[in-house]
Amino acid sequence: MRYFSIESLSFDEPGHWSGRYRARHRWHLSGVDCPRFGPWTWMDAFPSVDLSAVEEPVLAEPKGPMSVAEYDRLVALIRPFVPSVLPIRAGGSFGPMIGTAQGQFGPVTCYPSWELVLREDAVELLKAEGLRGIIAVRMELKSRRSTMPALYELEARPLARLHPDCIGEWKTPACDLCGKPESFPLPPKRWLLRSSIPEGLDVFGIEGANPRVVSERFVETVQRLGPSDVHYRELPAE
Ligand SMILES: [Zn+2]
Repeated sequence: MRYFSIESLSFDEPGHWSGRYRARHRWHLSGVDCPRFGPWTWMDAFPSVDLSAVEEPVLAEPKGPMSVAEYDRLVALIRPFVPSVLPIRAGGSFGPMIGTAQGQFGPVTCYPSWELVLREDAVELLKAEGLRGIIAVRMELKSRRSTMPALYELEARPLARLHPDCIGEWKTPACDLCGKPESFPLPPKRWLLRSSIPEGLDVFGIEGANPRVVSERFVETVQRLGPSDVHYRELPAE
């Protein structure tokens, strides 16, 4: 199976679609102010996680960088509601995106570059074709147009890793005080560590990097619905 990352068009490339949304996830963890590394935040988004049973107002109205003690308190509160396969890190967001939308959307939208949104017919087609790992969560978007098709955020769980040879030496170590993972700048030339690819899944994320990865089968399926304003960039594996 070949794999591709989905990337936004660059700012000066003309697209087919006018659709735009402004939305944020229902629940957030703020960044952490670590005594060793200073403030940091991660970019995880797990829209399938429902935290409505957690009675903690700061999750809906985060107030900026928090102490390690406060971070530990919030992690303990939400851990029972987050699948064990998913990490809980400062800056993470959970639940559906809520906001407003306007214009016409293509089958796949990737804007900003770390969010992947599918039109309703794309979700239905991917599921009808039996693709695996499609976790699509309906966005709660208000629109002036009553006929706007529903949009779904595609969850990409950070299951795969980039190959250590493409990351190279430019790593910041993990921190055991605050749970900060090892981090690195996204290498311009990149490939996957083959042994880390989750077998049989057609969508997944990369630990420590934003690009969302989809299978060749995913690309072929959504392209049947016409053009999308995205680039598919092949990610080799070794
Ligand atoms: Zn730390």
